[in-house]
Amino acid sequence: MTITSFIPPQRTLMGPGPSDVSARVLSALARPTIGHLDPLFVGMMDEVKSLLQYAFQTTTPYTIALSAPGSAGMEACFVNLVTPQDKVVVCRNGVFGARMIENVERIGAQLVVVDSPWGRAVDPQQLEDALKQNPDATVVAFVHAETSTGACSDAKTLCEIARQHDCLTIVDAVTSLGGTELKVDEWGIDAIYSGSQKCLSCVPGISPISFSERAIDKLKARNVPVQSWFLDQSLVMGYWSGEGKRAYHHTAPVNSLYALHESLVMLKEEGIENSWQRHKDMHGLLARGLNDLDIEFIVPEAERLPQLNTVKIPDGIDDAAVRSYLLNEFNLEIGAGLGQFAGNAWRIGLMGFAARKENVALCLTGLAEAIKQAR
Ligand SMILES: *Cc1c(COP(=O)(O)O)cnc(C)c1O
Repeated sequence: MTITSFIPPQRTLMGPGPSDVSARVLSALARPTIGHLDPLFVGMMDEVKSLLQYAFQTTTPYTIALSAPGSAGMEACFVNLVTPQDKVVVCRNGVFGARMIENVERIGAQLVVVDSPWGRAVDPQQLEDALKQNPDATVVAFVHAETSTGACSDAKTLCEIARQHDCLTIVDAVTSLGGTELKVDEWGIDAIYSGSQKCLSCVPGISPISFSERAIDKLKARNVPVQSWFLDQSLVMGYWSGEGKRAYHHTAPVNSLYALHESLVMLKEEGIENSWQRHKDMHGLLARGLNDLDIEFIVPEAERLPQLNTVKIPDGIDDAAVRSYLLNEFNLEIGAGLGQFAGNAWRIGLMGFAARKENVALCLTGLAEAIKQAR
């Protein structure tokens, strides 16, 4: 067998990520590769930092793009800011909160879990109670936008509570960044990570992160080195933020960073508030259409993420048959259920460039036909 070029089909991506990447971002990716320490590239890295500050709504200087996916952003926050001496409260309301727990366990820190039901936001009262019972807790971690369930937690209130108990906050904003109101400085978030392939609609493989001054102080005060060499931000810092001169740490994914730069320029052109609003508007449109098809949401209305719609699979309908029909007949990808929702939910993403009227229309038309076929 002769192996030739791989030519993927043109799909419409309406799952939990990656989301549709615009032609504009894809063409940025195809620009000439230059050296990662080329002064022009270093200048572009500075622009990426400034654009990320805008996206995160922060002025904190340590706001960079990790050369790895969102999961590495999660791990970077934990391995840099949690030591075995810490006591960490993790709020779990889905798959990604559970992964935070695994990170804490591997570090060997003390763990307190605050569980909320799947499909619901984290309950601030439960966090408050846990912190009262554990006055020696030092870190609070939670997922802002739980992509496994479609629930949005009140990050502002959770951070306020953590602050009152003098805890550092680690927030997963992989799915929220660019799609849902998120104000890192105003809400007092200490460490936050995201991903390139959700509401930023860039190619996968990059994780924007931002550490507050308090987080950087904690990192600098460590008396044991971070156990991961690659994710040790005290080393990465010299690469992303060395004054004038940058020290080699690893080779950044040069072309992927062109793409991230382009997607952030697009976000800035649109205006972040407008982007948040567009996600809400498209969600409203989709929700009305799903209601007409008698498809029900799992998450209560007030706690729903606009960019990730988790719906019940109608009775008697074959999950996989519908998803393959959409893929084969409409070139449309929607997400399967994950974890507790595997087999009984679909996850319809309206992330970034995918949050457009034509996508909503395609999805509703496709679903109506696929369900009719499956009956
Ligand atoms: C997608 C996602 C991640 C993981 O990101 P990867 O880029 O797949 O590693 C982490 N947390 C949440 C909430 C996500 O949606």
